[in-house]
Amino acid sequence: MEKDKNCVFCKIIDGEIPAYKIFEDENVLAFLDISQVTKGHTLVVSKKHYDNFLSTPKEIVHKVMDVAQRIGQVQVEFLGAKGVNILTNCYPAAGQTVMHFHVHVIPRYDQNDNFILEMKTKDDSKLNLPVLAKQIKKELK
Ligand code: AMP
Ligand code: ZN
Repeated sequence: MEKDKNCVFCKIIDGEIPAYKIFEDENVLAFLDISQVTKGHTLVVSKKHYDNFLSTPKEIVHKVMDVAQRIGQVQVEFLGAKGVNILTNCYPAAGQTVMHFHVHVIPRYDQNDNFILEMKTKDDSKLNLPVLAKQIKKELK
């Protein structure tokens, strides 16, 4: 996939705008998120421009996730994090604001830090779980 000239992460990869880079190889770049949700909040991105996780070739996803895992380990072992959230937003409906595949690695220090991830349980009385499971399973084959 070609570089997107309007993409802020492509500009960071090309060195056109600065970032606090912490890891770089042929396929992957990691740098501190400009908005530090918690201390050490890092973005791991593919060097090639893909819109998001869902449209990125799996070999590249694996390389990005390998780096995300290592950074999470370092956050726990050396930054004093008590936990880590690894997440990737796909499409604006899920909160994606930069349309270049990236994984957030967010170290967690306590329940009252800045990061809140709330998964409220939906009243599933109207959902037919057996039918739903069957539908999805069929498409995965
Ligand atoms: P998302 O909402 O998942 O698309 O996350 C995009 C992230 O990119 C946000 O957390 C922003 O703070 C971060 N971001 C945007 N511009 C920059 C930049 N120039 N340097 C570092 N992080 C950035
Ligand atoms: Zn890009």
